[in-house]
Amino acid sequence: MLKITAVDFNKALQKWFRAHGRVLPWRSNPSPYDVLVSEFMLQQTTVAAVQPYFRRWMKRFPDVASLATAPEEEVMKHWQGLGYYSRARNLHRAAKAILAQFGGSIPGDLDLLRALPGVGPYTASAVAAFAFDQPVPVLDANIQRVIARLFDFQENIATAVGKKFLHQAASSLLPKKGGRYHASALMDLGATICRAGQPECAACPVRGFCQATDPAMLPMKPAKKAITQLEDWRALSLREGEIFLIPSPGPVWKGLWVLPPAQPCGEVICSLTYAITRYKVNLHVFQAEPLPDWQPFPLKNLPPMPSPHRKVIAAFLLQKKL
Ligand code: SF4
Repeated sequence: MLKITAVDFNKALQKWFRAHGRVLPWRSNPSPYDVLVSEFMLQQTTVAAVQPYFRRWMKRFPDVASLATAPEEEVMKHWQGLGYYSRARNLHRAAKAILAQFGGSIPGDLDLLRALPGVGPYTASAVAAFAFDQPVPVLDANIQRVIARLFDFQENIATAVGKKFLHQAASSLLPKKGGRYHASALMDLGATICRAGQPECAACPVRGFCQATDPAMLPMKPAKKAITQLEDWRALSLREGEIFLIPSPGPVWKGLWVLPPAQPCGEVICSLTYAITRYKVNLHVFQAEPLPDWQPFPLKNLPPMPSPHRKVIAAFLLQKKL
């Protein structure tokens, strides 16, 4: 591994960050709880999409205790629309564990953090750095890209060798203290200058340290899995201002309510297409009579539901001017 002098590198990076760092709601004077919530929300979701959810969440669940003692249905309702609902269930379980084991104070120790539900190596490092200012490598997608380019790493970053290299290279750049500032600066560099595709090297504050020969080709990743198309038929049953739903049986939308599955029959009254993980789903809705185990909910007060099902109901109501 070619060596970059951490002190000089950090001087250049931090000068740039003081002038160009992003202002984010979970960055101004963050509590460990702010950081934990934001890191759960940011898994698989963009900063722009997370910001309004984060603000609403903090109004309703301002600390570990308020989240730990909230009913699951309310937690899911506040997550509704962010997707990947296992994150909400895990965050709720993590809050309960923090309240029970640590009296509501989030631990700063990496091993204790990793023992919490839903907290993997990345989230533990992010909480240690952003909440406790520890100088530890934080390797989100932005920082992985910056590190792979800085060190011109020409191998697949998803392999064991690739992960080890990134960890060692990122560790070699750490300052002695000030982990929060360092990780935030690297992250913002990746998000705004050293972006995926063609980076803006001419504007880069650390270009004097960068060894990339063809940065647009880095980082090297495994080929993306092919998208699979699925057809999904659902029943829409309305009666006197109420709609009939069932609890989602599957792991993906566990804890949410969904339109009941249906056999394709008669006229499709509404449809939409959505993407989930590596699937493209064509959702078709038919009108149907309710079955005894379907549960009615007032249209004005729906339980937590996945976005595609909420959207297809809204589209149908709009179409019928209901
Ligand atoms: S010089 Fe270019 S490739 Fe290297 S870190 Fe800066 S933006 Fe990224």
